[in-house]
Amino acid sequence: MTQQYRFNLTEKDMPTAWYNVAADLPVPIGPPLDAEGNPVGAEALLAIFPPALVEQEVSTERYIDIPGEVLDVIRTFRPTPLTRARMFEKALGLPEGIQIYYKYEGINASGSHKANTAIPQAFYNKQAGITKLTTETGAGQWGSAIAMAGSQLGIDVDVFMVGVSYDQKPYRRIFMESFGAKVHRSPTTMTEVGRQVLAKDPDTLGSLSIAISEAVEVAAANPDINYSLGSVLNHVCLHQTVIGQEAILQMEMAGVEPDVVIACCGGGTNLAGIGFPYYKRRLDGKTKARIVAAEPKACPTLTAGEYRYDFGDEAGLTPQMQMYTLGHDFVPAGIHAGGLRYHGDSPLVSALVKSGDIEAVSLYQNDCFEAAMIFSRAEAMLPAPESSHAIAAAVQEARAAAEAGEDRVILFNLSGHGFLDLPAYDRYNRGELVDYDFASGTVIDGKEA
Ligand SMILES: *Cc1c(COP(=O)(O)O)cnc(C)c1O
Repeated sequence: MTQQYRFNLTEKDMPTAWYNVAADLPVPIGPPLDAEGNPVGAEALLAIFPPALVEQEVSTERYIDIPGEVLDVIRTFRPTPLTRARMFEKALGLPEGIQIYYKYEGINASGSHKANTAIPQAFYNKQAGITKLTTETGAGQWGSAIAMAGSQLGIDVDVFMVGVSYDQKPYRRIFMESFGAKVHRSPTTMTEVGRQVLAKDPDTLGSLSIAISEAVEVAAANPDINYSLGSVLNHVCLHQTVIGQEAILQMEMAGVEPDVVIACCGGGTNLAGIGFPYYKRRLDGKTKARIVAAEPKACPTLTAGEYRYDFGDEAGLTPQMQMYTLGHDFVPAGIHAGGLRYHGDSPLVSALVKSGDIEAVSLYQNDCFEAAMIFSRAEAMLPAPESSHAIAAAVQEARAAAEAGEDRVILFNLSGHGFLDLPAYDRYNRGELVDYDFASGTVIDGKEA
């Protein structure tokens, strides 16, 4: 019999409801609080989000139907592939009993899992009569996803792109513009926040925090403009659960149950996407799969942060959320996985890490790129620098199992491709990529003794 590599679903196998883990948390999450510590009501969110998304943000319904119109659009790239990485297993020299599978979320043009939430967000806003969405983007993947969704669903998109990224990542800007979005180099003179920053420092490189403030200011001031966010929030985690629901069916086709399910973790949503349906499956007694978050050692929110209330942004303008945090004023070193440089984490993911239902590991970027290079050459893939953290964690799992002489089935989520991250690969290939000590922020040799 020939060996099977790919486990393909058809459109009729696509999940028709999202799984809401808020229905099954061992300990409930505290409500968002304002700066004075008073609970923020759902009404406050309605100034910048449509009613359907606010409802999902606070819902404890276990399953929420995916609207047919959303299914019709995500069908352009779903179901996504799940592959047994046999060439990678061979390249690592693993014994028979250790198997590695990966779910690939980079097949849509914007290149990451973020399209899974961009599409429903554009849909619900359009349905509420909103004509334009504002958002911020740093590395550019979220801006790309929402630009693409906006073009598919017929809603305008204005992206405030962190100045330094705007200058250094022209391809991401061109991508967003090609899908009809307007991209502004942040800070701009369009907003009060932007004008204030520019008055103080005309040559500023901008920051994610400033870009968020600009996008929120425009949305809050205009009734037909809303704001959208691509990570962290409960409704974003919800929309990603198509990933894990598909993966469960595909692993059943493969005839094995994963012992461990891994994803990289920045704001936590691709981990939620693959992990939450497996958490539910564990509650149902159908699997023993461990769920593992892989984060950078330069920004180790889950492995070195505190579980407490903190602001979502540096300026302290957002509500405070109960989550793991390194402190909202923490500025991580400039690692190449831009999507993983977030001081906080999804409150849902944080709650499950706190309860011991999700584990976390942290990794140096050189180890991640090394694992990504082995994977790339074996599997003919080029992972996003963020996704390389999941690959490196999978390699650690495989090696640990090999050392212990145990069988292990490993599943990881490949959250996106790295076609627009080639400068990072260039630096790795030239040996110029450095690792950082978290506590001091100084450059170190990441290879730990
Ligand atoms: C944004 C991004 C991430 C990090 O976001 P999460 O919410 O943690 O999933 C990871 N991988 C890719 C490819 C991304 O674009």
